[in-house]
Parts: sequence; C-alpha cells; structure tokens
Amino acid sequence: MLSQEIVNNLSHSSWIRAMFEEGEKLRKIHGKDNVFDFTLGNPDPEPPKEVKDALKNIVLDAQPGMHGYMSNAGYQDVRQKIADRISSDTGLSFSTDHILMTCGAAGGLNVVLRSILNPGEEVLILAPFFAEYIFYVSNHGGKTVIIPPSKDSFDPDLDALKNSITEKTKAIIINSPNNPSGHIYSEETLNKIFDILKSKEKQFNSTIFVLSDEPYVKLVYDDTDVPSILKLYDNSFVINSFSKSLSLPGERIGYIAVNPKMQDVDLVISCLAFCNRTLGFVNAPALFQKVIGAALDSSVDVNIYKERRDTLYNKLVSLGFSCIKPKGAFYLFPKSPIEDDVAFIKSAVKYNLLLVPGKGFGTPGYFRISYCVSLDTIKNSFPAFEALAKEYNL
Ligand code: PLP
Repeated sequence: MLSQEIVNNLSHSSWIRAMFEEGEKLRKIHGKDNVFDFTLGNPDPEPPKEVKDALKNIVLDAQPGMHGYMSNAGYQDVRQKIADRISSDTGLSFSTDHILMTCGAAGGLNVVLRSILNPGEEVLILAPFFAEYIFYVSNHGGKTVIIPPSKDSFDPDLDALKNSITEKTKAIIINSPNNPSGHIYSEETLNKIFDILKSKEKQFNSTIFVLSDEPYVKLVYDDTDVPSILKLYDNSFVINSFSKSLSLPGERIGYIAVNPKMQDVDLVISCLAFCNRTLGFVNAPALFQKVIGAALDSSVDVNIYKERRDTLYNKLVSLGFSCIKPKGAFYLFPKSPIEDDVAFIKSAVKYNLLLVPGKGFGTPGYFRISYCVSLDTIKNSFPAFEALAKEYNL
C-alpha cells in the first residue's frame, strides 16, 4: 500500500530520535533534572536580541502584500544583502540571482540534489556525516557512496576517495564545521579533495559538484579559520541556514549561494528556483526572510557553547575518554571505550545518560554528545560519566 522504500527506511531511521524517545521515558520516571539528555542538536540559547527586535519591527510595519506569494527565489532585498555579505567575504561577484532563499539547509540540500541528480547517479559523503544525507540523496533517485575517515583523524581517507569516484559520481557533500565531530577541514585538506575531483572529472569527462553544507559556519572556536569553498572550487554551492547560528531551527530559514563561476550558472539558477517551487516549498517563509535581512550579521553568543565544550571535553579527557577537541559546531565525538558503540550507549542509559552511537553517523566505534544543554546539566552529569568510566575501567 505504501512506498516500500519509505517503510524500509522507518526501520533504520534516526538513532537520535530513538534515544530521545528513551529520554522521554526516563524523564517520566526520574524527573527531568535527573536525566542527562545529550541527544538533540536543538540549540537552547535564545535567538539574539537583533532577531527579536527585527521580528517586532517587521510585524508592526508590515507592508501590504508582505505575506503574499513572491518570486520562488525569495525577496530581492534580502537576497541582495546576502549577496553583498558573501561578495565581501570571498571577493567573488555575487548578485541577487546567485542567492535562493530556502526552508533551512535541509530544504536547500533537497533543492540542489533534485536539480543536479539523474537516476542512479552517485553522491559522495564523508564519514562521519549527518545521517539525513542518505535520505535526501535517495529522495531524488541518487545513491550515496560513503568515504571513511583516515586513521585517527576526521579528514577523509584520500585513497578511498580516489577509488570511489566513477563516471556516475555527480557530487560530494562537505560539512565543515562537521556534525557530529565538530571537525573543520583545513584549506590544505580541501585542496587535496578538490584536486582529486578535478582529475577524475578529466578522466571521466564529467562534472562533479561540491555541496558545502554550512549551518555551523558561525559556531567556531579558538579563532579557527573556516576556508571558503566558494573560493577554492568553481562548481560549488553553499547551503546555509540560520537554524544554529541564530537559534531558529523551527522557523525553517536558510539559503543556497551558487558560485558565480559555476558552469552554465544561469540554467542552474533557473533549475533551483523551479525545484524550490515544485518540491512544494514554493518559497522560504516570508516573515523570516525579512528577519534575516535585518539580522544577517548577528549570531548567538559562541562563548556559551565554548564554555560548555571546554567543561565537557576537560572532564571526559580527565576520566580517560579519547576525544579530538572539536573546533566548531556544538558536538563532541569521543571514541567508544568498546568497539560496539551501540552496546556502550545502551549501558550509559542506566546512569540516565543519553548519547548517540557513532553508527548513526556512519562511523561505528564513536559516540556523539550534543552540548545544547545548560552548563548546570553538564556539571550535574559528571557523576554519571564517572560511573560509566569506572564501568569500563578507563
Ligand atoms: N546539515 C547538518 C550538518 C545538520 O546538522 C543539520 C541539522 O541538524 C542540517 C543540515 C539541517 O538544518 P536545517 O535546520 O537548517 O534544515
């Protein structure tokens, strides 16, 4: 009766959701302050004042027609502001045409994938990865090809990358800062990846697009540089959103920036607008486009997340967990003390500690901790982490 593919997907869909449901059960039994739920990447700091002020002003001053249908790409004035910001950051010449407002990064990724994929074409994703990519690619008839990380780093295994590219490879998704590892790829690493793509394009006489999924680009610590992929690779899209940087995930607002140097750029832009319409988004939410226009340069206070990262990282390392200190996003991705990360996170549940197995991100042997919880919750969870470390003789 239903789509077999979707019914099958239900049975191996989100580990994050599964653990969150487990948390709901535990909260009913033990009370919410006694359950340490590190599962969801749902930002808890309030949106910055600029967002709230903009929202009030826009509602009070709403011009006639502001809530109507519009160009599928979004409001011209908002796209112009984003184009100006990216032009000044990259030195490239962005105009309004190169910007398409979307329903978050998820909407943007689906619009790009729908626009570029033919049935059976392949999309490379770098483990560890945001698990929804697999479904987004299959939504549009594509196949994901997973590239493992190299040993003891979250950079990709470049030999595996080389060997995985075929004449069917259409795109690669790069997510830096990364969910779940918080890793940021250096310019050197990105250039190595792009050199491989370019040499394979020559070999197969094909085009391989780069989709740079950047919802965490403003959540960066220790002055780490996040290299601009737009400057390094012509056939690139940036897919961005304000879900994390402005704590607005429920408002579904983001954008696609198309590299002005992209091959057949005008046709690509027309395809994106067509897909934004026909996938049923029609256009990004009108009110929040205007809010973004007014609050584009603001961001949540990154120091809130930095303090949480440092507190949690220091504690885990002092307990004997092995973890690469993340440079961005709001996740830690330590090694599981045993190979079976699912068994490990199940044993954490008895201390009311909710974690997500690395398996859910294509990287077994690790686990993810999302620090979208208060510093008090983090500190109150320490006895539970201590008990877990003791259980595994760390
Ligand atoms: N990409 C990554 C890596 C994410 O972690 C998320 C959300 O957690 C998304 C995309 C989707 O974000 P949005 O809320 O902007 O659709």
